[in-house]
Amino acid sequence: MENIEDYRKAGKIAAQALEFAKSLVKPGISLLEVCEKTEEKIKELGGELAFPVQISLNDTAAHFCPDADDNIILKDQIISIDIGVHINGFIGDNAATVDLSNKHKDLVKASREALDNAISIIKPGITLGEIGKTIQDTITKYGFAPVRNLSGHGLDEYNIHTTPTIPNYDNKDTTILEQGTIIAIEPFASAGAGIIYESSNPTIFQLAGKKPVRSIITRQVLKEINSYNGLPFCRRHLVKKFGLPKTSFALRELKTLGILREYPPLIDKSHGLVSQAEHTILITKDGCEILTKA
Ligand code: MN
Ligand code: MN
Repeated sequence: MENIEDYRKAGKIAAQALEFAKSLVKPGISLLEVCEKTEEKIKELGGELAFPVQISLNDTAAHFCPDADDNIILKDQIISIDIGVHINGFIGDNAATVDLSNKHKDLVKASREALDNAISIIKPGITLGEIGKTIQDTITKYGFAPVRNLSGHGLDEYNIHTTPTIPNYDNKDTTILEQGTIIAIEPFASAGAGIIYESSNPTIFQLAGKKPVRSIITRQVLKEINSYNGLPFCRRHLVKKFGLPKTSFALRELKTLGILREYPPLIDKSHGLVSQAEHTILITKDGCEILTKA
């Protein structure tokens, strides 16, 4: 595979950045500071953001990204950190959960162990359903529910979510994995329903097409968005560059034009606490190589 070195480099930086973010997570620090320092770290290490650093708390499984004026302080939450880095468009995606309450160690262990167990059975020829079953069995053994409507995914150049879809439960999918495929596996364990819903107030977006844009303001903002090469972006980064009024105006216009995809926070239906673990791996001749390794 010709781009494997870029994948390896992106994966290594993503893993180092995740370790760095985990080391920052302590009672008293703001969520915003963890995000911003980690994003700086990624650039320092020579990586680009494949998506803004995401830190989801408690019953939020994913897709939370603080705005520029966010004032959440970390205290005793369950904190899932999800980091994506790219090198020339080739992405490493990984995540981990920290329990600042110290009361939910098993919840954190459940998703991590599900990930480890899935990785241990992976080799060419394994079916997606078998991976899902391993994840489900591990998480239910701890008394939790795997989040069924979130899944792992393939990765491609400047494309964070592509086929195959890696289930977090036994969906009986008989599609087999082949050597050379790069996927992210990401089990979520829930102390609640194990089904997430899309809430409101998205802060993460993606450009979903091209259309002629009239206003000068939106054109300016769009120029910046285009520099992300189709990858997700957050309002905070635009607000830093253009201020809130211009950013809001532009996002509104793009939404009206129907070319703005929104990613609102994903929250457990019964508001159970959720943990997540994720690695990006390459399927090798007789197993797999973990690419998101520090
Ligand atoms: Mn991720
Ligand atoms: Mn992912």
